[in-house]
Amino acid sequence: MVFFAKTYPALGSLASESTKENGSYKEPDVINQLQKDFKNKCYICETKDIEAINIEHFAPHKNINLIRKFQWANLFWACNHCNHIKSDREPLLNCTVKSDGVDRKIRYFLDDNLINNKVVIEALDGSIETQNSVQILIDIDNGTNHKSLNKIQAKSQRNRLYDEMSDFTSLVLKYFGSEDEEKQGDYQREIIKQLSNKSAFTAFKRWFIKDNPKYKTQFEHYIIDKQGNTV
Ligand SMILES: [Zn+2]
Repeated sequence: MVFFAKTYPALGSLASESTKENGSYKEPDVINQLQKDFKNKCYICETKDIEAINIEHFAPHKNINLIRKFQWANLFWACNHCNHIKSDREPLLNCTVKSDGVDRKIRYFLDDNLINNKVVIEALDGSIETQNSVQILIDIDNGTNHKSLNKIQAKSQRNRLYDEMSDFTSLVLKYFGSEDEEKQGDYQREIIKQLSNKSAFTAFKRWFIKDNPKYKTQFEHYIIDKQGNTV
């Protein structure tokens, strides 16, 4: 998970729909703005261009809490797999609230070896919000409850992550190995693009940079500002 700034004020349809008996929180203005604000990717697993999109209620509404149901701040863009596994768990770190610090409270990496790759997601503080968020991310990676469909979706998502990280690793190695200034400039621009929250699996890419002193020196300022906040 990485920080996303949501656009305010709230969308017009939410106020009018909330007064109707069977009002919808999925009007086109809401869908379009959520897709833009969340950069067209699931806020939990960070998969891009997902086919099965859900509008997710960050704090569960259970059809009885109409404030939560129509509250713009509570509507998130998630894939079906993550929405289903997250379900009504709370409290969690909120990736649209900068002070919640999703970027610095959860660490991600691929533990590579010749036998298998392992996705590692770990909490960097002891708060209940961080612990719950990490547990959801682990369940999403594993496909929770051993349901076969979840397992298949989890495997497919993990394969996308491996492909993306393999490309990113190779890009970083090319940048540091290149002696051609022009090519190095191209690689640098691409790395910066990949570190923005628009790219898939940004949290993994950012930690890949932050966990290596050489990469960190060169690229950290594209991730973290002088106050230690994510840019
Ligand atoms: Zn997802």
